[in-house]
Amino acid sequence: HEAAITADVAVIGAGPTGLFAVFECGMLRMKCVVIDTLEAIGGQCAALYPEKPIYDIPAHPAIAGAELIARLEEQAQPFAPIYLMGRRVDALAEDGEGGFVLRTSQGEQVRAKAVIIAAGAGAFGPNRPPLAGLEAFEATGAVRYMVSRREELRGKRVVIAGGGDSAVDWALSLKDVAARVTVVHRRPKFRAAPESVAQMEAAAERGEIDLAIPYQLHGLEGAEGELDHVVLATLKGEERRVPADHLLAFFGLSMELGPIAEWGLGLERSHITVNPATLETSRPGIHAIGDIATYPGKLKLILQGFSEAAMAAHAIHPRIFPGEALHFEYSTSKGVPLG
Ligand code: FAD
Repeated sequence: HEAAITADVAVIGAGPTGLFAVFECGMLRMKCVVIDTLEAIGGQCAALYPEKPIYDIPAHPAIAGAELIARLEEQAQPFAPIYLMGRRVDALAEDGEGGFVLRTSQGEQVRAKAVIIAAGAGAFGPNRPPLAGLEAFEATGAVRYMVSRREELRGKRVVIAGGGDSAVDWALSLKDVAARVTVVHRRPKFRAAPESVAQMEAAAERGEIDLAIPYQLHGLEGAEGELDHVVLATLKGEERRVPADHLLAFFGLSMELGPIAEWGLGLERSHITVNPATLETSRPGIHAIGDIATYPGKLKLILQGFSEAAMAAHAIHPRIFPGEALHFEYSTSKGVPLG
């Protein structure tokens, strides 16, 4: 067993409210570990609308999603949170000593005296194509939903599925290293930057990329997780078998509550019910804030999540510092937070 990662508070979700919870906990001298399935912090703001302006963040007449996240990260940084990115929290249990132990999808253990669930609409994950036998090919990396290093695909035959920026950008990038790149899309129109689409079409005319349009994924052929063909089909049922070592599927992200639904928390239509005064869930020591929390009058707005972060931090304080009176102070009287 690896040694557990420990902190006062485990924050599940690095969206805007999880990040602000780090700050609010830090102001009360509580150290946080933050865990998120995505590789980058920012939750919906960063993953779904980094460039779209938000107009209802107090004192920011307009601020882009990515910019808001950068500011929140900066604000939390003095408190040196531990970020565990690219892993999902799969299990949450009592540790028998009044605290909690969390298990991540990478097998790590995280121990904390309290938990803040800031999980939005659930863990982000790729939309997976409904193909028979998919899991075996995912396990070996033959089927992927992201590419971290294009060198890994050097000399490989790659099928790219999707019609958005990821599909088009990776087709352009991989044509120089892969043995063969085939782009599969169900219709001629791509929802990607027009300049990139034009480049891809020009590359296809030069024979550097194969465009399989209008095809959809139909099946995977291979054995023991090794792919040898991707089967495509048109809506009319015409099939085509493309020799391939890898399938990259870029069908966007979706969110699912996933393991959180199994943690024995009070739920109401996929949201966690909380006491609005403390944001505590039905399990003492586990609080929920942001989009995932519900109570009468709840507004699913970032600004409300910020306020919930402050209230949850104050409610958690006595667990971390039992018997110690919490003298309420303004951030200005503390000066620059020292962590
Ligand atoms: P999220 O931002 O959803 O982040 C939750 C994070 O938790 C995710 O990164 C997820 O991967 C992670 N997570 C979940 N489960 C697990 C798990 N088991 N293990 C590990 N990680 C997990 N709000 C406004 O106030 N103003 C606006 O103008 C506005 N515009 C919007 C525009 C769009 C297009 C969209 C989609 C939303 C908009 N919103 C707006 C809503 C706003 O983005 C959300 O209210 C906000 O992101 C909620 O923050 P959060 O921190 O609660 O959750």
